[in-house]
Amino acid sequence: MNEEYDVLIVGGGMVGATVACALGDSDLRVALIEQSMPEEFSPEQAHDLRVSALSIASQQILQTVGAWDAVLAARVCPFKRMRVWETAGDTEFNSDTIDYDALGYIVENRVTQLALLHRAEAFSNVEFLCPATIKQINYVAGKASVELEDGAVLSAKVVVGADGGQSRLRRTVGLGVTSWDYQQHAMVIYVETDYGQQDITWQRFVPTGPQAFLPLTGNYGSIVWYNTPDEVRRLKALSAPELLVELTETFPDCLGKINTILGVASFPLKRQHAQEYVKQGVALVGDAAHMINPLAGQGVNIGLLDAAMLAEVLIDASNKGKNIADLEVLKRYERLRRNENLKMMTVMDLFYRTFSNSVMPVRFFRNLGLGLAERITPLKNKVMRGAMGLEGRLPKLAKGETLIS
Ligand SMILES: Cc1cc2nc3c(=O)[nH]c(=O)nc-3n(C[C@H](O)[C@H](O)[C@H](O)COP(=O)(O)OP(=O)(O)OC[C@H]3O[C@@H](n4cnc5c(N)ncnc54)[C@H](O)[C@@H]3O)c2cc1C
Repeated sequence: MNEEYDVLIVGGGMVGATVACALGDSDLRVALIEQSMPEEFSPEQAHDLRVSALSIASQQILQTVGAWDAVLAARVCPFKRMRVWETAGDTEFNSDTIDYDALGYIVENRVTQLALLHRAEAFSNVEFLCPATIKQINYVAGKASVELEDGAVLSAKVVVGADGGQSRLRRTVGLGVTSWDYQQHAMVIYVETDYGQQDITWQRFVPTGPQAFLPLTGNYGSIVWYNTPDEVRRLKALSAPELLVELTETFPDCLGKINTILGVASFPLKRQHAQEYVKQGVALVGDAAHMINPLAGQGVNIGLLDAAMLAEVLIDASNKGKNIADLEVLKRYERLRRNENLKMMTVMDLFYRTFSNSVMPVRFFRNLGLGLAERITPLKNKVMRGAMGLEGRLPKLAKGETLIS
């Protein structure tokens, strides 16, 4: 079986599924391939360990493509407040001060992904192929094609790499990356606490790395503990009661008593950025294009902005009768997103490096920074709007505008 599409998306994670939904109802014939379908959601299930803080811009994208109601129907924890502090400086952001109901939403990744995949399936111009195993990817004369294990060969004017940080598509077509390890791991600990549902996320900076808390629905929460790979290995080897003692001794007393540890996972921290996002007939989105320090929870948020912008550029080019595979068309997407993402990565690195540093002048300036952020309202509001994804050039979907006229 040989099939030719306008757009073929490799990877149905949160970002790839958003590209598919954003192209829904357009004149383009789209296929989305995903290797495995996540387990369906049911409310009795424990929270997943993988959760993300979705920004207001991400929520708006999901809403505009018609996936947000399914997220709400599953499980979402909105948060209004965000507190950031270290030894001497402390600041708290509150969405009320800029007339928003929330700063963002903590959602399990699987809930977001399922909502998007089911929405994508409902569009008549989108074919969802799952489970699909890729045997081989070819890239010849500016055209990529994908051969599946079942013998089907799928080709498209544009093949979109949404297949995550290890992107096979990116490697096959030869789009290079710049990357380095932060020499830190993020340990995610799913806990049940004494307090009821919280509306605050917090982040405390200590020299060994940040310590963060993300609220979940009910009296559950997700603690993120950044530390050296060795220390995280030691902590992971502890029994649950031993880890509970360490948590209680190390973490601030903002959670009430931590009653139970329900799950633990850890992730190595890596920064990675594709030197180019596009080639003739190929575009990268999400983690396939960039992996960013998760300390301010922006990875999937910038990925969803990529997805929305790529769909906007492709639909616009198609409406103008242009060939969507042309490098000139795809470069427009790259220009609109790569610098924005680079800025976000640089800010995260600056944050990470200054806050994980105990050298006196650095401590002085970061305390000054926190103090200024606390006292100067326009600066504070700008930082807050940045975290909510409302700064910079936004794609139409993030402003609630549809792409189909
Ligand atoms: C500890 C931690 C905390 C984080 N917290 C946040 C947060 O609070 N907020 C935030 O915005 N971001 C956060 N992130 C980042 C976020 O998780 C990622 O940016 C996001 O998951 C990337 O989504 P993606 O769809 O691009 O890639 P992925 O989630 O990696 O999805 C890729 C998809 O492609 C599929 N795939 C891969 N290869 C193939 C193939 N060969 N064939 C078919 N399908 C394939 C996979 O099955 C998968 O479904 C965090 C990351 C970490 C490590």
